[in-house]
Amino acid sequence: MNAPKIPAPSRLGYASHLACRECGATTELGSGHACAKCFGPLEVAYDLPPLTRESIEAGPPSIWRYASLLPVPPAVASTPNTEPGWTRLVRADHLATELGMRALWVKDERGNPTHSFKDRVVAVALAAAVELGYKVLACPSTGNLANAVAAAAARAGIRSVVMIPSDLEQQKIIGSAVFGGTLVAVRGSYDDVNRLASELADDREDWAFVNVNVRPYYAEGSKTIGFEIAEQLGWRLPEQIVVPVASGAQLVKVDKAFRELVALGLAEETGYRVFGAQASGCAPVAAAFRAGHDVVQPVRPSTIAKSLAIGNPADGPYVLDVVRRTGGAVADVADEEIVDGMRLLAQTEGIFGETAGGVTLGVLRRLLADGVIDPDAETVIINSGEGLKTLDAVAGTAEGLDAIAPTLSAFAELESSLTGREVGPL
Ligand SMILES: *Cc1c(COP(=O)(O)O)cnc(C)c1O
Ligand SMILES: [Zn+2]
Repeated sequence: MNAPKIPAPSRLGYASHLACRECGATTELGSGHACAKCFGPLEVAYDLPPLTRESIEAGPPSIWRYASLLPVPPAVASTPNTEPGWTRLVRADHLATELGMRALWVKDERGNPTHSFKDRVVAVALAAAVELGYKVLACPSTGNLANAVAAAAARAGIRSVVMIPSDLEQQKIIGSAVFGGTLVAVRGSYDDVNRLASELADDREDWAFVNVNVRPYYAEGSKTIGFEIAEQLGWRLPEQIVVPVASGAQLVKVDKAFRELVALGLAEETGYRVFGAQASGCAPVAAAFRAGHDVVQPVRPSTIAKSLAIGNPADGPYVLDVVRRTGGAVADVADEEIVDGMRLLAQTEGIFGETAGGVTLGVLRRLLADGVIDPDAETVIINSGEGLKTLDAVAGTAEGLDAIAPTLSAFAELESSLTGREVGPL
């Protein structure tokens, strides 16, 4: 691989080596992302010290409270570049009542620095990449990752190169450009952008493409959502969790987080079930799940949930492993159900989530209706991003908003015309 030669393992905390997820072959930290023997994806392995709940609880209110469980230099916890995480776990009683559920929470990822869960993975990738000697932070992105990389690199004072499909939401394009750095719009799908980035990564020795050549470190950042959910539930695992699936890394790492907490004795083993959520316009993992396949057949995406529009998901097969092992499922919902989900989350809990949040809530509703998800079991859904970045999806909610004159009579006239309307643009 082309990663710069460097690493002394101790420099990435308790991370000890990389291990192939397919054949188990091990390699030293820093030396790439694919197995030299079988080209399988590499994953970070640790030599963990004993940890206590108290030591974690004494840490900062950010992902860095879990620094010991991440492949980062220990100093990151005291001198972080960015401090994502420790987002709210919202008890969603109104939404639960609406859905006929007993106990439901929303993990609300809007609380991150650039308003999506991607700040977590970027913070970890950046800390590892700097330590491994990379000089430029880069990525192919469906939008949120571009925002997170450009922002984190700006704050770190290093160059960023973010590459996006040119048909992204305006809010996500501007939300990257504003940070400076190099923004490259590519005519093509995310999968085209990703292929181009992989080719570039082979050529640019000191560029860390966070989700390509430093992917093992990047992906570990997603564990922090799982750690937080368990800690915020009082060091318990939820009985059911619904996670949006693009590349599949987030879902796979939430499961890894739960298993690590059990292995460390920080949470009890409880037989949780993991569910994956996709948009019907890009549902290769859901299709493989339904068909009983182990491999994921790539698709060409067409959905309003652009943040999840990865037609050839790198972690697809591992998502299938996790949901089958835990007794979960992967399902998908159409664009109209995504919009309904966004509106329902907003109207019941005051949370304006992005299209991916609508996908997750839509799939929860679908799986409840199908009797797959248990309405009486404690359930967490993830709202992974910010609705203000995907405004077009719900632009219709503000239609028919005619301005009135600033007079009492005009107001009275409007009020009488609204009679009987429960929700509307007043
Ligand atoms: C990237 C993204 C996801 C999915 O992430 P993967 O780890 O690639 O599956 C979910 N929601 C939002 C808002 C995202 O930007
Ligand atoms: Zn291998």
